[in-house]
Amino acid sequence: MRLGFIGLGRMGAGMAANLLKAGHQVTVYNRSPDKAAALVEHGATVAKQVADACRGEAVITMLADDHAVESVVFGEHGIVAALPANAVHVSCSTISVALSRRLAQAHAAAGQRFVAAPVFGRPEAAAAAKLFVVAGGAFGVIEAVRPVLEAIGQRTFILSDQPDAANLVKLSGNFLIASVIESLGEAMALVGKRGVDLHAYLEMLTSTLFSAPVYRLYGGLIVDEAFEPAGFAAALGLKDIDLALAAGHELRVPLPLASLLRDRCLTLLAHGGGTLDWSAVGALAGRDANVPDRVDPTGS
Ligand code: NAP
Repeated sequence: MRLGFIGLGRMGAGMAANLLKAGHQVTVYNRSPDKAAALVEHGATVAKQVADACRGEAVITMLADDHAVESVVFGEHGIVAALPANAVHVSCSTISVALSRRLAQAHAAAGQRFVAAPVFGRPEAAAAAKLFVVAGGAFGVIEAVRPVLEAIGQRTFILSDQPDAANLVKLSGNFLIASVIESLGEAMALVGKRGVDLHAYLEMLTSTLFSAPVYRLYGGLIVDEAFEPAGFAAALGLKDIDLALAAGHELRVPLPLASLLRDRCLTLLAHGGGTLDWSAVGALAGRDANVPDRVDPTGS
């Protein structure tokens, strides 16, 4: 397919490379041009502005947050203004439910089509085309971009024909991941303060009742205190908890645990930890308990 790809950060760079590997013609755009230039050796064409990445059958966006998506979609030279009729915007960023609805409406009004396709998996999974995609949109539109979804991920889940429902599902998943990070951190503070070896403890957990990838991955990061460089920055983690809370607010769903997680993320950010991996939230319990020989992610 002839595609555009906008947003070549930790996730987007690998995703765009995999689209090229799968044989698609890809024109890439990134706010900081150096990241786009890095994809030329993989066969990408570099767009100087957003509109130049919007000439094909679909454009994929993988941007930090609502603000970034709004800034490339709306406006005189944005995606809505430039994308041909019937072409598809595939929005992979983790954004608010409200913005997803607004995007669907704006594209429909312009005669374009829209699919929300947020993903699970960190930059390593993005580079290896092993993402899990949660797609939301009309069946025919998702089918039209199926080659894109297959090139970036190992499996696509379709839970609704409404794009914003896919964004809500993604936010619910990140809420669960943050809950695991916090609860693992508290459990490790408890046994760590008693002197139990944390690597052996994690090995026991993940060999028995807690063998899920989320315990293995985040347990390993917390035990090894591998918070830099970030795979998923704590500032983006806070964004997602805030978005889950906003969705809960709108739907009148209290999320007391999410409120606690928001404050944990805020504590980390208040001490300058926004660029650490969000697994550093799992080190806060050890700090609070004064567990010996453990990194204090707040640096205090
Ligand atoms: P990242 O490395 O920080 O990359 C963010 C991208 O957004 C960069 O291309 C950045 O451009 C661009 N951007 C930020 N603000 C912008 C603005 N105002 N205008 C235009 N472009 C802007 O983030 P990431 O980790 O790749 O995450 C991207 C999205 O995927 C986020 O929604 C995140 O929540 C989601 N996600 C991340 C992971 C993960 O593990 N990292 C997993 C699943 C989903 P510059 O290069 O110019 O800064």
